[in-house]
Amino acid sequence: TEAVRAGQKFYYYQDGADDAHLRKLQITARLQHAIEHGNFELFYQPQLSLLTGEIEGMEALIRWKDETLGSVFPDEFIPLAEESGLISDVTRWVVGRVREDCMALASTGKPIEISINLSAKDILDTEMLAMLTEAAVKDLPAGCSLAYEITETALVADAHAARENLLLLKNAGIHLSMDDFGTGFSSLSQLKMLPVSKLKIDKSFVMKLASDCDDQNIVEAILGLAKALKLSVVAEGVEDATAMSMLDNWGCQSIQGYHLARPMPVTEALVWLENYRQKEGEMDRDVSNG
Ligand code: C2E
Ligand code: MG
Ligand code: MG
Ligand code: MG
Repeated sequence: TEAVRAGQKFYYYQDGADDAHLRKLQITARLQHAIEHGNFELFYQPQLSLLTGEIEGMEALIRWKDETLGSVFPDEFIPLAEESGLISDVTRWVVGRVREDCMALASTGKPIEISINLSAKDILDTEMLAMLTEAAVKDLPAGCSLAYEITETALVADAHAARENLLLLKNAGIHLSMDDFGTGFSSLSQLKMLPVSKLKIDKSFVMKLASDCDDQNIVEAILGLAKALKLSVVAEGVEDATAMSMLDNWGCQSIQGYHLARPMPVTEALVWLENYRQKEGEMDRDVSNG
């Protein structure tokens, strides 16, 4: 154990364990501050339908740049928000911001679905569920709809309650997808029971698709499974043209990834969307002229 002096305070470190503990405490404290001040941003990443060539949706991804901690990524702070009970405030902020951004995103002329990531805790929280339902059905601009993404871990805590609650969302006409598919612990029988209409193949199986035979086999197997269960599939983490054409050949319905676009602030996402549609229009005209 070593005492380290920082300002007037002494911190006691044991191996690296306390380091990690200290960071967690700091993040949780600053998270509280960020929630109070709405100090987050939302980025949007386009999702392309390989069947129609249209941008069918965008995934909303939270970003947080703290004054003292700098940028903290969601993979680090979302689990801490869950542990500390702050996640419902984060989810409320995200849903509120998506509803504000919807107006602009729907203004480009074609229907678009914005997907929001939910945490396991959100699904088991009755009050939250009512808010999520209302947010997705009430007073959205024409052409814009909300969808929710859940992960398999959400189902581990209380599979029965999770299923009942997801059914309420589904029965309200809201689209649900299973995120990070292939990395969690849910059984195939659970998947069969769940009211989701889409699977998102986890990016860890997709990023190296062009060169990794095991990943190719896994992805083909997931596509087969999804077909049997009549679920549509989004492959996330598509980083190159080879992966995209493989997925297309195997009948994967949609893709998302750096090859298409990185997550962007809403103003950039709008410009990107307009450019994409303009190029697409030019290509259609080229095809019909020649
Ligand atoms: P996710 O929902 O699976 O989101 C996909 C992640 O993959 C995002 O990371 C995205 O930026 C990244 N990504 C997209 N395309 C590519 C690619 O081609 N290559 C690679 N290497 N990565 C790609 P991000 O934004 O850091 O988010 C990480 C995770 O944090 C998300 O995984 C989601 O589980 C969680 N998260 C993000 N925003 C929210 C939120 O608003 N609420 C909740 N509850 N969780 C969120
Ligand atoms: Mg997601
Ligand atoms: Mg994912
Ligand atoms: Mg993830």
